[in-house]
Amino acid sequence: MPGQGKRCTGKDGESIRIRVPRGTLLRDADTGAIIRDMSTGEEFVAAKGGRGGWGNKHFATPTRQIPRFAKPGLPGENHVITLELKLLADAGLVGFPNVGKSTLLSVVSNAHPKIANYHFTTLFPNLGVVYVEDGVSFVLADIPGIIEGASEGAGLGHDFLRHIDRCRLLIHLVDVAGSEGRDPIEDFEAINSELRKYSPELADRPQIVAANKCDLLGDDREPIERLRQYVEARGYDFFELSAATTAGARDLMRAAAGKLSALPPVIVYEPDYVQPEPEIGTADEVSIEEDDGVWFVEGDWLKRLVASVNFGDYESRMYFDRRLRDAGIYSRMEELGVRDGDTVSIYDLEFEYHN
Ligand code: GDP
Ligand code: MG
Repeated sequence: MPGQGKRCTGKDGESIRIRVPRGTLLRDADTGAIIRDMSTGEEFVAAKGGRGGWGNKHFATPTRQIPRFAKPGLPGENHVITLELKLLADAGLVGFPNVGKSTLLSVVSNAHPKIANYHFTTLFPNLGVVYVEDGVSFVLADIPGIIEGASEGAGLGHDFLRHIDRCRLLIHLVDVAGSEGRDPIEDFEAINSELRKYSPELADRPQIVAANKCDLLGDDREPIERLRQYVEARGYDFFELSAATTAGARDLMRAAAGKLSALPPVIVYEPDYVQPEPEIGTADEVSIEEDDGVWFVEGDWLKRLVASVNFGDYESRMYFDRRLRDAGIYSRMEELGVRDGDTVSIYDLEFEYHN
């Protein structure tokens, strides 16, 4: 708020705090550049508020005992930001819809994802903490099933792939019983090719493969061995699983924890956003008025510039001074008769003029 008479400084605005899930990325809405990765749990000021205006007391001098001046407050920062949810999970479950990802998460962790026998019961990513043994645990993410064409935007898959972007390990679930009429090996290849289309780097992320729904096969081990051979020949670790009966779930989680212990920590993204310089106008666009040895300089671009400069910092003060000089403000003041020792008042900034 502007400064008031009766010696009142204008009020600062209220802060607005937005709570976001850990791992959320703040991006500049125009360029997509990363401003901040909210992975550490620390608060971040995305847009500083304005400074309240000075009351008239601030302008009292020995000769001007009852000053009539009060100053408007300065605008706060204004920035359009996109918040991108990017889960912070160690391991991510991938696979076709209905292969049993949510079921697995529910039996190995404290999470209670929706489970039903139709595609895309999971519309939001789910996270669960898997406790393997004392002191050994990891975070497991269940994302909506990936389907063929997901990387081109088919179905729901594509939107969700970014959630596993920073998983250190992928657990690839395959319906080895072919309970929906598809071939397990083709499923395995289809998912990997979707991952590759989305991000080659993601496709090369360490991956372990679990053949789920083994319980449906009864004594028929052929499909399991066929998939095992295929997968192991390509260098992946292979596990048998029945998420429904939990058979094999513990071994799979142990193996995942073992792999994770040898992998680097979750990626934290470095900011690549560069703050644009505030726009600088000309001296014609500001008003310069003198009253009793005090020079009041005001104008829209100047106001934004003052608001953006941190005057506690020497470099910033020098930068500000240079901008005023370049814009021709000092030359105009010289023309208007400013003298050494006069006061220059620019919004909440005051200094003595020396040529
Ligand atoms: P998601 O889409 O991959 O998350 O799959 P869900 O976990 O929602 O499971 C889809 C369906 O498969 C549900 O009806 C589950 O009960 C069933 N299901 C999951 N795992 C198994 C399993 O190991 N054996 C059997 N028989 N059914 C399973
Ligand atoms: Mg699911």
